[in-house]
Amino acid sequence: MRNGKGLIIGVDLGGTKMHAAAVDEAGKVLASERAKTLPEEGAEAVIGRIAGLIGNVAGALGASASDVQAICIGVPGGVNDAEGMVDKAPNLGWEKVPLASLLAAQLGGGARIFLDNDVRVAVLGEHAYGCGRGTQTMVGIFVGTGIGGGLVVNGRLHLGSRGAAGEFGHMVLDPNGPRCPCGKRGCAEALASRTSIERDVRKMIEKGHKSSVLKLMKKEGRPRLTSSVVARALEDGDKVMTKVFARAQHAVGLLVGNMVNAIDPEVVVIGGGLAERLGESMVAPIREVAYRHFLLQRDRDKVRIEATALKDSAAPLGAAFVARMRLTGAPAPSRHATAPSAND
Ligand SMILES: [Zn+2]
Repeated sequence: MRNGKGLIIGVDLGGTKMHAAAVDEAGKVLASERAKTLPEEGAEAVIGRIAGLIGNVAGALGASASDVQAICIGVPGGVNDAEGMVDKAPNLGWEKVPLASLLAAQLGGGARIFLDNDVRVAVLGEHAYGCGRGTQTMVGIFVGTGIGGGLVVNGRLHLGSRGAAGEFGHMVLDPNGPRCPCGKRGCAEALASRTSIERDVRKMIEKGHKSSVLKLMKKEGRPRLTSSVVARALEDGDKVMTKVFARAQHAVGLLVGNMVNAIDPEVVVIGGGLAERLGESMVAPIREVAYRHFLLQRDRDKVRIEATALKDSAAPLGAAFVARMRLTGAPAPSRHATAPSAND
C-alpha cells in the first residue's frame, strides 16, 4: 500500500457532476471518483460531497483526507484564489461562497486548497498531459453549454492584461446572427454551443421538420439537450440534428481558422462533452473549414487540430497540475478567473 502523505488531488466541480482524481507528478491518475453535484441542495451539501469524494479517493490509496497535501478545484465560474472564494458560479447558483475555508473545515488536516476556473484547468491539463504536451503554443476551445477556452503562449497560460483572455466563445462570427447570452449577436457561442444547437433543433421541429431529438430527450429525462442525445441523433441519421450540427461545426471551424491566423499555434484542442463523445468525427469537418481559412496555407497540417485526449479527465488532471505548481511557489495562473463554465 502506498503512503498517502503528499497526495495531490484535482477536482472538477461541474454543474451536474463532480470528478476528483489523485494524480502523480507524471500525470498518472492514481485513483479517481465521480459524484453528482446536485447544486439545488445548496452549497453546504455540495461541499460536503466534495469532501466525501476527496476522502474516498484518498481512501482508495490507503490514505485519509488528512493525508492530502494539496487540492485544486476547477470551478465553473469566477474565483478569487487569494481569498479562497467563489465569486460567482451561475451553474451552481453560488455567489461569494468561501469554498476553500468551508472545505478545509470539512476535511480536517492541513491540505492546501486552491481554486481556479474549470475551463482554464482543463486547458492546462491538456497542455501538461494531453494533446498539447511538449508544445509552446496551444489553443484550447471547449464546447459545452457555452464555449470557453484558454491560450498557452511560450508554454504558459496567457491571462491578458486583466486576466480576461481566452473568451474565444465571444468572438463575433456573424454580427447579424442570433443573440448570445452575453448580449451581443453572432458570437461563436451563439452559433455552436450545445445550447445553440438545442435552440436551432427546436426551431426546425417547430417549423415542421421531422426529428427524433425530442423523443430521445424525453427518454433520457434531462431537461436540456445532452451530448449523448446529440451523438445518438447523429448516429440515427436524424436529418435535423445532422444539419444543425454541421452548421455548428462550420462555426467552430471559422473560430479555429481565426484563432490560427491570429496565434499560429502548434495545436488546437477541441474539448467539452461533445468532443469527448464524438472525437474525430466532430473535429474532422472543423479542421477542414479551419484549414480553408488559414491565410498561410504552407505547412498547414503542422497545425494540429485535435479532439481532447484526456476527455473528462482534462479538468481534474489540470487542477492537480495547478495544485502542484502552486505548492512549488509558481504564480497562480488565474487569480481572478472570470470565464463561465463551458465544459460540463
Ligand atoms: Zn457572446
